[in-house]
Amino acid sequence: MKIVSHWINGAISQSKSERSGEIFNPATGKVSGNVNFATTATVDEVVNVASKAFEQWRHSSLTKRTQVLFAFRELVNQNKEKLAAIITEEHGKVLSDALGEVTRGLEVVEFACGIPHLLKGGFSEEVSTGVDVYSIRQPLGAVAIISPFNFPAMVPMWFFPIAIACGNTVIVKPSEKDPSAIMLIAQLWKEAGLPDGVFNVVHGDKVAVDALLTHSGVKSISFVGSTPIAKYVYENGTKSGKRVQALGGAKNHMIVLPDADLDLAADAAINAGFGSAGERCMAISAIVAVEPIADKLIEKIKERALKIKTGDGTKGADMGPLVTKVHRDKVAAYIGAGEKEGAKIVFDGRDVKVDGEGFWLGPTLFDNVKPNMSIYLEEIFGPVLSVIRVKSYDEALKLVNDHQYGNGTAIFTNDGGAARRFQNEVEVGMVGINVPIPVPMAYFSFGGWKNSLFGDSHAHGTEGVHFFTRGKVVTSRWLDPSHGGINLGFPQNT
Ligand code: NAD
Repeated sequence: MKIVSHWINGAISQSKSERSGEIFNPATGKVSGNVNFATTATVDEVVNVASKAFEQWRHSSLTKRTQVLFAFRELVNQNKEKLAAIITEEHGKVLSDALGEVTRGLEVVEFACGIPHLLKGGFSEEVSTGVDVYSIRQPLGAVAIISPFNFPAMVPMWFFPIAIACGNTVIVKPSEKDPSAIMLIAQLWKEAGLPDGVFNVVHGDKVAVDALLTHSGVKSISFVGSTPIAKYVYENGTKSGKRVQALGGAKNHMIVLPDADLDLAADAAINAGFGSAGERCMAISAIVAVEPIADKLIEKIKERALKIKTGDGTKGADMGPLVTKVHRDKVAAYIGAGEKEGAKIVFDGRDVKVDGEGFWLGPTLFDNVKPNMSIYLEEIFGPVLSVIRVKSYDEALKLVNDHQYGNGTAIFTNDGGAARRFQNEVEVGMVGINVPIPVPMAYFSFGGWKNSLFGDSHAHGTEGVHFFTRGKVVTSRWLDPSHGGINLGFPQNT
């Protein structure tokens, strides 16, 4: 059985662990390995290593950094099938979806390959006689990335390529549920020529996270996970004087206006609602149907959903299992709660039949969901779609804007004016127009509003470069030999 341990200073840590957790294959329900959990002492060790490596890495030339990034990009690309297989084995998502996650992560590496351009500062000559001003951006030091189970490769990749390209050293604390993908990534960094100690991994749970949050050697925290933990990480990380970006949960609405192409909308609802078994922070979970189209739309979604094959992600299924039994049961309990609260079940994922002991749950669709029901108010994070019927665009917009989450949303319509109004009025960070999962490209930034993000910086793009660097402005005068004299007044630019 595999044992997954920390990656410190370019090697797998051999030290014995006091605590560990089980790793499951969600498609078989069987334990496939164990992961060592870091103690506070392990976190101390890794922070010391990363801080020491920073002294050298911050002075590496931009050319050297770019060469390592290009080599890493090639290696991840060559190993993407292997990486996808590891993800499917521990997360459960189907292989094609796992491959998609690696490909989207690679986009951030490609963006970071342009770091010499991204770090260029500004220069103003002669702001005063003989005086020039220029801005530079400098790395922070050892930075921590704490990631969730649902994208074990892509989410850490939103951050570490840019952090490293900017001259920082990195400590990743991945989810304990699927810890192996990041270990292959660590090896690929080494093969790419990244010096030891620049990229490190500690595994574990709250103990490791708390130690990272309070350690004075950790200069920033990039967190992605559920909203209660994101809030906790933001509050405690900033209390310890760190820069923190903490991305939280979601409840993404898809608004379907009466003039929309209903086939396109139904395809989108299926793909964005049930892809990765709904375990995506950009999954659609609330379909807001502006009447009179709800009946027709539901019919089209049902036709498609009944063809979805739930099963082992390595054996040609469309939708894999949920990540753990506990999570599967929690999602199933939400279906029970929705039924009790009076929503109408159109099809019920609890009835799914799949061989084996995997954590199975098929697609579920609710109709007549009301805004006060728990299945509408809370994030379910499973293959459960809710239809809320409304009478107008204004009613639909109010629903989205009143919701506690503001990660992603999408509008389906053929009316350009309505779409334009929506993108202007909606209080959500990422908006799709006839596009269901509007995950921004790496050169834009990823992040939600309201309870979907704590902090000011979104991930990657220009905001990523700013998050992983501090600005400095230099005002310089090289004296004209004839210039001199004392002046105690405030410096003025004349
Ligand atoms: P989670 O909050 O349970 O765990 C996230 C990380 O926090 C893990 O590394 C975990 O070990 C750690 N953690 C868990 N409990 C902790 C505690 N009490 N104290 C300190 N650290 C703790 O999230 P998850 O179940 O792994 O992931 C699913 C969640 O992530 C969903 O809510 C989803 O919406 C969210 N998510 C958000 C985005 C986004 O971009 N906004 C992206 C992906 C996932």
